[in-house]
Amino acid sequence: METLKVHHNYSLQSLTTFQVPVIAAQFMEVNNLAELISAIQYAGDQPILILGGGSNLLFTHDYSGIVIQLKSQGYSKEKFETSSNLWKVTADAGMNWDDLVERTISEGLGGLENLSLIPGTVGASPIQNIGAYGVELKDTLLSVQVLNRKDFTIHSLSVEDCKFGYRDSIFKNSEKNKWVILSVTFLLSQADSSYSVNTGYGNIQSALTNKNILNPTSKDIRDIVCEIRRSKLPDPQLIGNAGSFFKNPEVSEEIKNELIHQWPDLPVYPTANNNYKLAAGWLIEKAGWKGKWHGNARVHELQALVLTNPGKATGKEIYALALSIQNDIRNKFGVKLEMEVNIL
Ligand SMILES: Cc1cc2nc3c(=O)[nH]c(=O)nc-3n(C[C@H](O)[C@H](O)[C@H](O)COP(=O)(O)OP(=O)(O)OC[C@H]3O[C@@H](n4cnc5c(N)ncnc54)[C@H](O)[C@@H]3O)c2cc1C
Repeated sequence: METLKVHHNYSLQSLTTFQVPVIAAQFMEVNNLAELISAIQYAGDQPILILGGGSNLLFTHDYSGIVIQLKSQGYSKEKFETSSNLWKVTADAGMNWDDLVERTISEGLGGLENLSLIPGTVGASPIQNIGAYGVELKDTLLSVQVLNRKDFTIHSLSVEDCKFGYRDSIFKNSEKNKWVILSVTFLLSQADSSYSVNTGYGNIQSALTNKNILNPTSKDIRDIVCEIRRSKLPDPQLIGNAGSFFKNPEVSEEIKNELIHQWPDLPVYPTANNNYKLAAGWLIEKAGWKGKWHGNARVHELQALVLTNPGKATGKEIYALALSIQNDIRNKFGVKLEMEVNIL
């Protein structure tokens, strides 16, 4: 512990994208495995929170335990099989997610471009199986290297082990708080291979057409995804938020039909298991919440799915706003909205 600095009564306000005032009883930064193990040993029986970029967390009160932030930045790549066009890329948990996306694309590797500009760290990316523009983390993930918080054994978990779902994995459910994610390994395609980019979602295809791009590269897709995201989502540097606050709810065909009968313009998307996904943002907007204030917290005026801290909101106020929306949507549509953001 001699080399590890422990900060007491440490403000996390600038370390989470909601930027609400919150104090951690203790805070430590760790740069490697040895420091991580020392920090966990130091914590003993006190609660531990592993903090990444703080872009999917809402603190509703001060944190009485120890917050450990991983800073490890390692990156390596090797050919998957000598004759193939696939590369194994491993990045440490502390690396910024978008830096990884940018680096792989600049090295001529495709697969992560649709996930451009998602805030946060590599280490948090498997927690909710991050997804955007028709792609999820699990599509290119090979393994997740994890440390057991109790006995300090290291394991490699496969995609099957992680039980990924829509914004979901074992790390959020059955094995919550069991592991610290140390690094993530991806299987990426060399761009000069038969690899073809995914253009099928959102406005990507129309943006390509507008730009007259006929054979888009990973870099083209990244540029377009960044452009669309910058135009649609509030920048957390300017206005506190954690992206989509709720997941898009999934309902049976029967419920979908009842809802469509009453709300003919409700957007619905079929899922692989014969259910239907509803657009949570549409429900919230239709219920009249867009731009609404609750104390100092506010539903974003352009994106009803994004709850914001325009400056003075506390975590409690944002959470109260989320609960009011949840209740209202249940009453109006009979649909339960599940929170995507981790509440503490
Ligand atoms: C503007 C904006 C847009 C967003 N858009 C998207 C989007 O398009 N798609 C999407 O999926 N998400 C999106 N998000 C949510 C967020 O970016 C992701 O969930 C991201 O993966 C969170 O990373 P983080 O490092 O900030 O995690 P944090 O918020 O720091 O932590 C999230 C959870 O992961 C745990 N954790 C973090 N690191 C580790 C680790 N190494 N080991 C074990 N547990 C760990 C934490 O304890 C916590 O429970 C968006 C957020 C914002 C602010």
